[in-house]
Amino acid sequence: MPPQPDGRLRIAIDGPAGAGKSTVAKEVARRLGISYLDTGAMYRAAAWLALRFGIGLTDADSIANLLEQKPPRFTCDHDGNMEVYWSGERITEVLRTPEVSEAVSALSAHPRIRQILTSWQSEYGDEHDVVMDGRDIGTVVLPNAEVKVFLTADLKERAARRANELTRKGLTTSTEEMALAIEKRDAHDTGRTIAPLRQAPDAHRIDSTGRSVEEVVDSILSLVPWEYSS
Ligand code: C5P
Repeated sequence: MPPQPDGRLRIAIDGPAGAGKSTVAKEVARRLGISYLDTGAMYRAAAWLALRFGIGLTDADSIANLLEQKPPRFTCDHDGNMEVYWSGERITEVLRTPEVSEAVSALSAHPRIRQILTSWQSEYGDEHDVVMDGRDIGTVVLPNAEVKVFLTADLKERAARRANELTRKGLTTSTEEMALAIEKRDAHDTGRTIAPLRQAPDAHRIDSTGRSVEEVVDSILSLVPWEYSS
């Protein structure tokens, strides 16, 4: 796609759970010196708020009101590290717990919650050069992104990556348990009516099975039009 009039570079990376989107997106952003926005963390923050205040996951209006009244704060440093705060409390790590992962898909199917988070994300894309990862970035949030990638990997490898990630954080889980959990989440994300997980027609499909982060990052960087390389 040729550069757009605003001259911004937006890279959309979508795909199922555990495909390595965040790791790769962060590194692509660091290499290009642009921002990184993990939109999954936004949905996770909404789920964390619901759990924290004992709000039922079907009570989308109460969760949406809370999000609007006291929005979480998302920050990104020059190395692409994103931090999330709510009311002065750092919640970056707690967003990755199995409880939040289990709750997030049900909540992310609600239209009002999606509408709030999608508008924050689109506004961010209007104002920044950014790499954004999620499920609907290339299809809904940044339909005019200059580069779109749909990142996949074998279920077994995705489950093993997530299980290792949790083990490193001191939480025990097996690859089998993880495979079931991410299969369930993918089914939810693919099957919902609003903004389902789907490859945009103009997205490049990259399979990260058996490939290093570096290799996948290089493949994505090779898709960036030359006009944007400094
Ligand atoms: O990317 P991550 O696994 O952290 O995303 C957590 C969940 O947030 C996903 O399973 C999905 O339900 C939801 N999500 C979404 N749309 C996005 C990003 C995440 O629905 N753009």
